Amino acid sequence: MQLSLTEEQLMIQATARQFAENELSKNVEALDLGGGRELFRTNLKSLAELGFMGLNISADYGGTESGVVSFALAITEISKACPSTAVTTSINNMVAEVIQSVGNNEQKNNYLPKICSGEYIASFCLTESGAGSDPASMRTSAKRDGDHWRINGSKAFITSGEESGCFVVWAITDTTAAKGKGISCFLVDADTPGIHVGKAEKKMGQTGSNTNPITFEDCRIPASALLGKENQGFKLAVGELAGGRIGVAALALGIGQAAMDYARNYLGERVQFGQTLANFQGLQWMLAETYTELEAARLLIMQAAYKKEQGQDFGTSASMAKLFAADKANSACYTALQLMGGAGYIKEYPLERMARDVRITSIYEGTSEIQKVIIARDLLKNL
Ligand SMILES: Cc1cc2nc3c(=O)[nH]c(=O)nc-3n(C[C@H](O)[C@H](O)[C@H](O)COP(=O)(O)OP(=O)(O)OC[C@H]3O[C@@H](n4cnc5c(N)ncnc54)[C@H](O)[C@@H]3O)c2cc1C
Repeated sequence: MQLSLTEEQLMIQATARQFAENELSKNVEALDLGGGRELFRTNLKSLAELGFMGLNISADYGGTESGVVSFALAITEISKACPSTAVTTSINNMVAEVIQSVGNNEQKNNYLPKICSGEYIASFCLTESGAGSDPASMRTSAKRDGDHWRINGSKAFITSGEESGCFVVWAITDTTAAKGKGISCFLVDADTPGIHVGKAEKKMGQTGSNTNPITFEDCRIPASALLGKENQGFKLAVGELAGGRIGVAALALGIGQAAMDYARNYLGERVQFGQTLANFQGLQWMLAETYTELEAARLLIMQAAYKKEQGQDFGTSASMAKLFAADKANSACYTALQLMGGAGYIKEYPLERMARDVRITSIYEGTSEIQKVIIARDLLKNL
């Protein structure tokens, strides 16, 4: 693994950082308070124009072919300024990768340029109210109807549900198959009759990113909407979620890093007992420990991203990166808040928002407990 970044990776990191600092940071407070929707969408379009919606997608379909390391670097920079924009960007890239990996030419030509150019936001529809950590127990079904499929069922907690132009949707297609063996994936236009997107959930953090329930009621889609092979969809979901976890880990790192950078600067300015807080060794040790943990998280993320980019097995590394980065970023936000005393707790400063925004990173795209299940399964597989 290379420990230094290439010139292209440094350039992508710098571009993301500049856009995040100059543009995204202006809207993060408005988004947190429930506004800023128009600017949110404008910023997503600008990010697409800069190439950030198809970082690992072939140039033939409008992507930038920058690779997985660049994707992780970009998500961290975007997340430092606006985690809601970062999660939307991460999932758009993830859906684009699903389509690129198993879509037929028509699907790739039709949808990838729309996602890469920002015309479409895209959603990943796997979770159901009764199937979260255990998605193979889903109930949503797709039944063949001549040269069409009919989808019935409900998905829960779908990021960008109400903003999306297209959904990748998992559904049971063989009710007689063993658990997880009869699931297929479909690429569905958001305006297909029979799709009802429910009201956005009221959330603790990342409130700029809408999270919606979606119901499919006799939703009739053409046979050509099947994405990949029939009844092979669950394996596809598992593989794509592993890639998505690199995005969530990078996103968590961005929030933790931003929180600690803010608190570190505060320590240099705030005076108590006739000296700046930066002089107190107890606080210096909190800084030293937390920055070390974030650096370790960064290295795990880079390792997982590098392995994926090289075509190596990366699932366990991605789970380790997500487990560790989410955990350390959560504690970094609480440490940073503590370092700022009362100022950390009030809304005039960004720490209380960051502490809320970071919380979900140890839950979505597989909870920390599920990451441990995956890691342990790999460790014990040859016993
Ligand atoms: C804001 C937000 C955005 C989301 N976006 C999307 C999206 O775009 N698309 C999508 O498909 N889903 C999305 N999700 C769903 C998310 O991935 C799930 O919430 C998550 O996987 C956990 O599932 P659950 O909520 O049903 O929790 P449960 O599965 O009910 O888990 C509850 C608790 O039990 C633990 N647990 C469960 N099974 C085990 C086990 N075997 N061993 C040990 N502990 C276990 C969990 O770790 C957790 O602590 C989103 C969720 C949220 C909140």
